[in-house]
Amino acid sequence: MRKPVIAGNWKMYKLLDEAVQTALALKPLVANANHCDVIIAPVFTALKTVADRLEGSNLRVSGQDCSTQSDFGAHTGEVTAGMLKDVGCQYVIIAHSERRQFYAETDESANRKVRAALVAGIRPIYCIGELLSEREAGRAESVVETQLNGGLQGLTPADMERIIIAYEPVWAIGTGKTATPEQAQEMHGYIRHKVEESHGKSVADSMRILYGGSVKPENIAELMAQPDVDGALVGGASLEADSFSKIVNYK
Ligand code: PEP
Repeated sequence: MRKPVIAGNWKMYKLLDEAVQTALALKPLVANANHCDVIIAPVFTALKTVADRLEGSNLRVSGQDCSTQSDFGAHTGEVTAGMLKDVGCQYVIIAHSERRQFYAETDESANRKVRAALVAGIRPIYCIGELLSEREAGRAESVVETQLNGGLQGLTPADMERIIIAYEPVWAIGTGKTATPEQAQEMHGYIRHKVEESHGKSVADSMRILYGGSVKPENIAELMAQPDVDGALVGGASLEADSFSKIVNYK
C-alpha cells in the first residue's frame, strides 16, 4: 500500500506573515487527513517560522530547491539540504520545471541535488515532465525516461525508497490545462514500469508518483482514482488554505 502524498508548492509567493497565516489556517482543515502525507513548500525565508509553528501537527515542510553541494563553502546564494533539515524540512522539491526552464537545472545537477538531499536525510521530490512540443512530437515517454535515468542515476534501491517522483507535464503547469486522468495514468504506469526495470519490482511497487499540473479541488478525485497516481504536487491551488485543504480531503 502506498500512502498518498499531497504537496503544495508555494513557489515565490507570500511574505513571512502571509505564509504563517496560510499555514495556520490550513492546520485545522487537514488535521484529520490521516489518509495521506500533507506537505507545504514555502519560500526559503519562511521555512523556519512555518516549520516551528506547525510543530506537532500532521503538516510537513519542504524546501523548493537545494544546493548540489553538501558541505559548507564559498557558494554565495546557495542553501544545502542539511540547512533545510536544520530549519525543519523533511522534504525538498528538486528539478521543478521552472528551475529546468529558467535556472538551467539539468538532469545531472538534479542528480547531485537528489544525492545531497539523501545524504542530509531529507526526502527528494524529484520532478520530471515533458514540454507540449515534445508530447506533440510523440516524445513524451522518451523525455521522461531520460529525466528519470539522469536524475536518479546511481541510486541504490534503499535510496529509491526515500524518493518521491512528481510527474508534471510542463504544458499543464499553471495553465489551467490538466492532463486527463487517462493521460496521467498512462505516464505514471510507464514511470513505474521504468523504475521496475532499473530498480526492481519491490522498489517500483512502493514508489510514490505524484501528478502535478493544474490540480484543483474539482479534478483531484478523478486523478486519485487512477491506480498509479499516488498524490499530487499542487501549485496555484495550494496558495489558499481553503482550496488546498479541499484537495487534501479529496476522499
Ligand atoms: C507546480 O508548481 O508544481 C504546479 C503543478 O503548478 P499548478 O498546480 O499551478 O499547475
